[in-house]
Amino acid sequence: MTATLPSVFVSHGAPTLPFEEIPARGFLEGLGRELGRPEAVLCVSAHWETTAPTLSLAAAPETIHDFFGFPEPLYQLRYPAPGAPGLARRAAALLAEAGPGADRGIEFSEARGLDHGAWVPLMLMYPEAEIPVTQLSIQTARGPAAHLALGEALAPLRQEGVLVLGSGGTVHNLREWRAGDATVPAWAQAFDDWLASRIEAGAADDLVDYRTLGPEGARAHPSEEHYLPLLVAAGAGGGRGRALHRSFAQGGLSMAAYAFG
Ligand code: ZN
Repeated sequence: MTATLPSVFVSHGAPTLPFEEIPARGFLEGLGRELGRPEAVLCVSAHWETTAPTLSLAAAPETIHDFFGFPEPLYQLRYPAPGAPGLARRAAALLAEAGPGADRGIEFSEARGLDHGAWVPLMLMYPEAEIPVTQLSIQTARGPAAHLALGEALAPLRQEGVLVLGSGGTVHNLREWRAGDATVPAWAQAFDDWLASRIEAGAADDLVDYRTLGPEGARAHPSEEHYLPLLVAAGAGGGRGRALHRSFAQGGLSMAAYAFG
């Protein structure tokens, strides 16, 4: 018998997280030990956006350095975990079974590697890079409800030793981000607090309607790609969660993390 795993959402912050001395890094370094060792990881990152749900079949996914203008040592980092093509096909079958809510022409990619939304947190959580990992893309234009449905379809994976890991950010507004300003804006704290209360209440419908119900929801997420992985994790874990970590980095960038189920 394999114990049922929670689904997890983590905020990955800036690509420089592995080099930052901040609480969120220490949290992620301990998270792998806290969760134990899954059979495989299905990661849903803010940094893989496609028109149809797409799963990676790569047997040895490359480390993608999908960012520009950062210090050179960041481009030397590699996360050589094996791929998980079998898990990718299993996830696709679950999405297909779930029907119209989740199955919208599932596609596969033979070559897609791991973007920094996946490898940065995984490198901190599981530095040995031994656990097979595949990624499922997001479809930003389809919005939160569709991603909650994606997660719901993937829920059985939690009983199969698979860690469903969403990676994004719970407050992610780079337009109002100012280098060197460490102040947490009141609006960012207010949205982050609201989100935590809704997650702990199991109010998944409120998470879907965050732009109207949440204080400054549209300001917290001028674009939705960093929010949607949270909905996948929430859907996979039955909607009710608990905060694993709460902090802010570089001013108003929330680094909150949640476990569901
Ligand atoms: Zn990001």
